[in-house]
Amino acid sequence: MSYVTAVLRTDEPPLMHQAVEEAVRLLREGEVVALPTETVYGLAANALDPVAVTKIFEAKERPTFDPLIVHLPRKDQIDLVAEVPQEIVHTVKQLTERFWPGPLTLLLPKKPVVPDIVTAGLPTVAVRVSSNGIFKRVIGAFDKPLAAPSANRFGSISPTSASAVLSELDGRIHLIVDAGASLYGLESTIIRIEPGTPKPFITIVRPGPLTPDDLKPYGKVKVAIRSVIDGPSDSPGQLASHYAPRTPLRLLSRPSDFIPEEGKRYALMSYRGEEKDGYLHLCDWEEVMMLSPGNGKLPEAAVRFFHVLRRLDELGVDEIIAEPLHEHGMGIAMMDKLRRASVRFAS
Ligand code: AMP
Ligand code: MG
Repeated sequence: MSYVTAVLRTDEPPLMHQAVEEAVRLLREGEVVALPTETVYGLAANALDPVAVTKIFEAKERPTFDPLIVHLPRKDQIDLVAEVPQEIVHTVKQLTERFWPGPLTLLLPKKPVVPDIVTAGLPTVAVRVSSNGIFKRVIGAFDKPLAAPSANRFGSISPTSASAVLSELDGRIHLIVDAGASLYGLESTIIRIEPGTPKPFITIVRPGPLTPDDLKPYGKVKVAIRSVIDGPSDSPGQLASHYAPRTPLRLLSRPSDFIPEEGKRYALMSYRGEEKDGYLHLCDWEEVMMLSPGNGKLPEAAVRFFHVLRRLDELGVDEIIAEPLHEHGMGIAMMDKLRRASVRFAS
């Protein structure tokens, strides 16, 4: 596999039209294309064409037991790929009316038209509708569901910019459509819905930009993220090694947990870079990068999360030390990812 990877800009209307046209042309030919979404950049292919979908797995070196999310052109098209059980029709309608297009993925019983390679042989399919303007144009013109996992090599850090996609997949795909930095910076929230009285059960199997509080009005919400060392989970791609930088990463619980070793070079992933949090003076950091330098809030941290992780990884230090984040709202997803990134290096 060796391609010349083009990166097409979209910041001026004529360039944007060209980029969209080229993306649609490649998709129609059964190729894969890296596209912006509001969560992270995705690697898209025709979800109903198993040969095209195989190319996603090849480019990402993703094992085929890890299923893909299917994007729909419009929110009234769930029945193209999934069967909504009668008992949850009302809740699905409420959730999709409220959150689509947007970063919410629903697990639903799949229709036979969805190739097994997309769902890793599971009886369910993960579906969503993206709100990114460029993605919407491409999928609207293509007019078929697209399978689109994050556009990174398997197990590596998700890309939130075209340059991050390029560093992951250069030479492995024909085209990256550049639409600037991802709006949320974290992958979509994945949920399962089950009937229940008085309220349906909503289980978050992958935490993301939509939080338990966002979903609470629509059912009894449970967060069921499997422990990072558990076996198969409800969300099979949630492997312990996911989101891992190449540099060892350690997530601290409190400042006193860290005693620097003589001669080692460390970088700090700080939440807001404030002295009073107690991490800045723990050692002579090679580099300190803040997740939320602007307002000290979790959504800002989320937007920068994968970017900061990637930059710290590029420094070539001995270890990245991460401050813990508040475990509520988007902090749930980031802490989950930090645990997965750090467990790979634990004994
Ligand atoms: P992404 O790489 O963002 O496309 O995310 C794909 C992830 O969605 C997978 O790694 C799984 O965790 C989850 N997923 C996709 N399809 C299913 C499914 N049918 N059942 C459970 N989880 C799924
Ligand atoms: Mg991924």
